[in-house]
Amino acid sequence: MSTSREDLLRYDVIIVGAGPAGLSAALILGRCRRRVLVCDSRRYRNDAAQLMHGFLSRDGVPPAELRRIGREQLAPYGVEIRDVTVVDLRAERRQFEVTLEGGERLVCRKLLLATGLVDRLPELPGLAEMYGKSVHHCPYCDGWEARDQPIGVYGQGCTGVALALNMKTWSRDVVLFSDGPASLPEADAARLARHEIAVREERIARLEGKDGMLERVVFTDGSAVARRALFVKARQEQGSELARKLRCEVTEERGVETADKHEETTVEGVFVAGDASKDVLLAIMAAAEGADAAFGINCALQEEDLA
Ligand SMILES: Cc1cc2nc3c(=O)[nH]c(=O)nc-3n(C[C@H](O)[C@H](O)[C@H](O)COP(=O)(O)OP(=O)(O)OC[C@H]3O[C@@H](n4cnc5c(N)ncnc54)[C@H](O)[C@@H]3O)c2cc1C
Repeated sequence: MSTSREDLLRYDVIIVGAGPAGLSAALILGRCRRRVLVCDSRRYRNDAAQLMHGFLSRDGVPPAELRRIGREQLAPYGVEIRDVTVVDLRAERRQFEVTLEGGERLVCRKLLLATGLVDRLPELPGLAEMYGKSVHHCPYCDGWEARDQPIGVYGQGCTGVALALNMKTWSRDVVLFSDGPASLPEADAARLARHEIAVREERIARLEGKDGMLERVVFTDGSAVARRALFVKARQEQGSELARKLRCEVTEERGVETADKHEETTVEGVFVAGDASKDVLLAIMAAAEGADAAFGINCALQEEDLA
């Protein structure tokens, strides 16, 4: 016998994602006495990071600790959290049907996508073991720890140039590795030279070091350049296809687009927060956007209930 829509478990809000964005939204919505479910596939963008930096009051704590505290503080408000992947979403008659891995279906009035991003890193032998320890992508997250050290930057074209110049804020000793002909416009080459950033165009064979700590960048001819940290330009993709399934507008540059204030997407009733809508990609920004979305969601529910 098939389940009718009326029989399906009904929430005010289902939040997909339990990183800083999803947990922050859940906290505000729980305090608004909303019936909230948070679904978490437990794949967090900063899984590789040892410590999280730059989050007021949590600077230097492991990212998992922030999430542990976040979950703990939801308990008094009756927010439900399930470690489960959402596999499908459908908008229908001013509500949304959410299908969980395993086939269970739920219904909610508003949806929040806090599904984050996935980083596609350059395929350099040795990089994966060092990522999050001495290879990083974000100077704001890990630049301080590499300050005054010999820093390498891996990147091509204008993004490589920009990242190399950026790193001069943290160290005087910056080398740009283009891993092949850099073919830089004259103005870029001159700017790098002016700021004493050497460009190494040799093909890279591997990164070498111990216990995840970079010691040298080794070229295919066997020569090497000693470095203590490497910053790379990672390509970021959406953490899930759910926004596209709902026909929210998604662009490569800005991620899931917001249509108006308080993080509502181009589909009414669907909100987005955190890295999925690319802005400043920091955990504290994700948490702030989560709170903003929660505010927007609660206001929308009030509009409907108190018309
Ligand atoms: C290596 C590294 C180090 C970093 N260091 C720092 C730092 O020091 N300081 C800082 O401020 N920022 C740092 N960042 C950035 C920070 O990790 C992100 O800005 C932050 O995690 C974004 O939070 P979020 O909630 O948007 O996404 P995430 O934390 O990535 O959470 C995404 C959530 O969505 C869930 N999800 C996705 N799809 C589904 C689905 N279909 N069903 C159910 N759940 C789903 C995931 O399981 C997860 O719970 C770092 C990032 C990386 C990669």
